Amino acid sequence: TTFKDLGLSEHILSTLAAQGFEVPTPIQAQAIPLVMEGKDLIGLAQTGTGKTAAFGLPMIEKMLASGKRPDPRNISALVLAPTRELVNQIASNLKDFVKKTPIKIGLVVGGASINKQSEQLSRGVDILVATPGRLLDLIARKAVTLTQARFLVLDEADQMLDLGFIHDLRKISKMVPKKRQTLLFSATMPKAIAELASEYLVDPVTVQV
Ligand code: AMP
Repeated sequence: TTFKDLGLSEHILSTLAAQGFEVPTPIQAQAIPLVMEGKDLIGLAQTGTGKTAAFGLPMIEKMLASGKRPDPRNISALVLAPTRELVNQIASNLKDFVKKTPIKIGLVVGGASINKQSEQLSRGVDILVATPGRLLDLIARKAVTLTQARFLVLDEADQMLDLGFIHDLRKISKMVPKKRQTLLFSATMPKAIAELASEYLVDPVTVQV
């Protein structure tokens, strides 16, 4: 399989080539066409398997196709992850993928200036990568709204549950439109994750690497 076979545009293909991405990883080969089709997805994969591109690339393609521009305080996609380190890593990968596109990546994590994060959101962010607690603080301040979000990604969902984020996830998921695409990634599939998936995903396809 090549990235071209997965239905990605020339623009993204040239970005990937410039970054030395030659061949899709197994999770990318499986997940990208499903996300492009609009399916909800459960991805059972560890970090290091290329899962950021597996959800990021098709999401970016769909956003480019829709032609939507950044809108102050209204995000189009929300990526939740359990730790600051992971949020930083995801945002940095996504920033590489959106080079030379109008898509803006934002990042909010605890322990950094909330005012700066609020300013960033007021300038317009399309894809927001966040830890759940800080995101809720910013929502409470009306610095961001999720009412236009078309994509919800829960990354390392098992770790988010282990860290006690279930109540935050419930609150956040209530603020995202019902009509959306939800992508859940987890290294393991304990009962609690299966329950979370059945609550938040519609007719999901599972891919495992
Ligand atoms: P992830 O699992 O998304 O954290 O990705 C792990 C690392 O692999 C990151 O540094 C990516 O930039 C890199 N990577 C992901 N997919 C590919 C690919 N298809 N070819 C080369 N490197 C990749």
